[in-house]
Amino acid sequence: MDFNDTPEEAAFRAEARAWLAAHAPAHALREGERLEDAEEARRGRAWQRALYDGGFAGITLPRELGGRGGTVIEAVVFHEEESRYNIPKGPYITIGLGMALHVLAHHGSPEQKARYCEPTLKGEMTWCQLFSEPSAGSDLANLRTKAAKEEGAREGDEWVVNGQKVWSSWAHHADWGLLVARHDPSLPKHKGLSFFLVDMKTPGVETRPIRQISGASDFNETFLTDVRIPDANRLGKVGDGWACCMTVLSSERIGSGSPREAVQEMVEYIRRTGRGADGGNALDSAANRVALAQALAEERGEKYLAARLRTMISRGEDPGAMAAMIKLAYAGRNQKMLGLGMEVRGLDALAAAPDAGDTLGLHYEYIWSTVMRIAGGADEVLRNQIAERVLGMPGDWRPDKNVPFDQL
Ligand SMILES: Cc1cc2nc3c(=O)[nH]c(=O)nc-3n(C[C@H](O)[C@H](O)[C@H](O)COP(=O)(O)OP(=O)(O)OC[C@H]3O[C@@H](n4cnc5c(N)ncnc54)[C@H](O)[C@@H]3O)c2cc1C
Repeated sequence: MDFNDTPEEAAFRAEARAWLAAHAPAHALREGERLEDAEEARRGRAWQRALYDGGFAGITLPRELGGRGGTVIEAVVFHEEESRYNIPKGPYITIGLGMALHVLAHHGSPEQKARYCEPTLKGEMTWCQLFSEPSAGSDLANLRTKAAKEEGAREGDEWVVNGQKVWSSWAHHADWGLLVARHDPSLPKHKGLSFFLVDMKTPGVETRPIRQISGASDFNETFLTDVRIPDANRLGKVGDGWACCMTVLSSERIGSGSPREAVQEMVEYIRRTGRGADGGNALDSAANRVALAQALAEERGEKYLAARLRTMISRGEDPGAMAAMIKLAYAGRNQKMLGLGMEVRGLDALAAAPDAGDTLGLHYEYIWSTVMRIAGGADEVLRNQIAERVLGMPGDWRPDKNVPFDQL
């Protein structure tokens, strides 16, 4: 496998780099700069519009849907180059690009593609994911939110949705939601689900932000009370809910992982700031050097596994549990490495000076690293997948398999 750019990829990289050099600095955050939610959302939308105007939005999306019609490798190259700039581009943008476009491209009707794809690419339409519920996280198919038709309703009539979602990232700033709900409780749990696109301004949709340990409120509880959804906003056929969820979740896991050389950045950070014993630098410590070398080996491993994953996807092969392996390796390594950074920085990391931008950033990323062990598939659940799908070990105990949901 050759990891160097082909001549075509090198030409694309040069084009992307030149475009980014001309446009990205005006959108990038200054060191240590943090934005209020509303301002972050505004800046994220503005950057997405700039990408669209520059021809770099939706690189792999077909041209007829407003994308560039490029290759998976071009998307990766662009992402690598873009990540050199610290641009505010939160979940309200990435859920739209990574999940909404993906599920629309696979399951949407021509009318739905025409209505939603281009505004999403332009940053005019943002999305949230309304999947998890208080008793349905890892076991998503256990969800209880109901989508029903009124008595006497005919095919094509609207749905009435009732239930509660939780952990809905940036739902309070989203225009639209990707919603999965149960239309038929008499079917086994994975089968009685349907998928909808819900306008977040519909009467009956209420988002309540959840306050996090970091002080931010990135996610919400979302209550749905008699929310009326036109049948034209159903994605796929009635009963296709689980297939749509799998499409969304596979793209979420494929997107996990760091395009940055994070270990090298950490070494530089410790070199600048890490006090060691006897007035030396923390990099003099053998234990720290071993930990960083280990982290670098793991980061390289993730990078090459990710390259393999992309090759498989671009060939149309089923990557199986490969995305689960990368996500699992990344989340654990990232948390360990950021923990080391916190440790060597000591008390200064816990109570950083307001102008110590990189230490404040480390503190924030360390707290955030814990959630990556859960979001997009918790560690234990990914290990189950790897055990069953790669190692061929006996399956988890599933007493609810093929049992009607209303008899569980
Ligand atoms: C930052 C963040 C953002 C999120 N954003 C969204 C969003 O936008 N939209 C959305 O719908 N959801 C979102 N989620 C929710 C996320 O998908 C769930 O948190 C995740 O699926 C885990 O579900 P849970 O929290 O209910 O934990 P549970 O499923 O209750 O798991 C609790 C613990 O039990 C373990 N466990 C569960 N089942 C098994 C098993 N079979 N074998 C062994 N161990 C098991 C888990 O690994 C975990 O350690 C987000 C979560 C986070 C952290």
